[in-house]
Amino acid sequence: MDVVTLMYGLITYIIYAYGIIHEWWSEETTAVVTGANKGIGFAVVKRLLELGLTVVLTARNAENGSQAAESLRRIGFGNVHFCCLDISDPSSIAAFASWFGRNLGILDILVNNAAVSFNAVGENLIKEPETIIKTNFYGAKLLTEALLPLFRRSVSVSRILNMSSRLGTLNKLRSPSIRRILESEDLTNEQIDATLTQFLQDVKSGTWEKQGWPENWPDYAISKLALNAYSRVLARRYDGKKLSVNCLCPGFTRTSMTGGQGTHTADEAAAIVAKLVLLPPEKLATGKFYICVESKKLISKL
Ligand code: NDP
Repeated sequence: MDVVTLMYGLITYIIYAYGIIHEWWSEETTAVVTGANKGIGFAVVKRLLELGLTVVLTARNAENGSQAAESLRRIGFGNVHFCCLDISDPSSIAAFASWFGRNLGILDILVNNAAVSFNAVGENLIKEPETIIKTNFYGAKLLTEALLPLFRRSVSVSRILNMSSRLGTLNKLRSPSIRRILESEDLTNEQIDATLTQFLQDVKSGTWEKQGWPENWPDYAISKLALNAYSRVLARRYDGKKLSVNCLCPGFTRTSMTGGQGTHTADEAAAIVAKLVLLPPEKLATGKFYICVESKKLISKL
């Protein structure tokens, strides 16, 4: 490390440590948000642009995504980029990572927001478990792994926020043996994969209800349970390496996923997301699961 880099690091550290400035970010700070053509994802992009960051809005449908980005440019946000990204398709993830590397290069914040559910509110059927797990869990995981080399990991700490759900917390698992595996401090990615395989087998054999899997939105809940577990494994892997990994349940939000029902708007949820991903480095935790309560307060469950 040369003297200039060392001095820069020292000065930045002093500035943050003594609270001389609260905003560690600038328009050089780059965020990627998945599934951002509508709902919470779109609102997060808008909020981060309002706060002065550069944001890549991604969406699986090129037309919907470019229209969403254009609507933001029309109201004055020049720092929005659009790139098509279907997180359930590994070739789309590879193409996106390569596009990002060529066009923006360094990443500060990743919000894994894209997800699917096929149940209406109050309905607890298993409809397309493979698609849900492939999108909500493997999609977020594969994208994260593809982007890991691009994170800045400077003194301001890079951030991954996985949009999760309280439906996928460990207390929703009625099986003590599965719960014991997932809450272990030594949990591995292989154990998470094996848990998902077991769930899909229990669905196929028609025994899932007896095996103690979550009852509400079961396949969606399992996908988020796996995402929470992976986030803890990843947080451990990057502990002390200037990359924080957390999960957030945005609360019951009025979007298409809930058929427009909810206790608060996507903009209110997005304000919480932005607050969390922009915490000053000294206040930023890792490996946590946050829950948004009453649309304004954040509590940490772990
Ligand atoms: P929406 O259904 O409104 O939006 C979901 C977004 O994900 C859409 O843009 C959708 O694109 C996109 N998407 C789905 N599949 C893919 C894919 N394969 N590749 C890329 N994008 C995809 O949901 P919300 O805004 O409500 O949800 C945002 C996040 O918050 C999700 O992770 C959800 O699980 C979580 N959450 C939401 C809650 C709520 O009450 N709303 C509660 C708890 C958690 P398209 O338009 O093409 O379908």
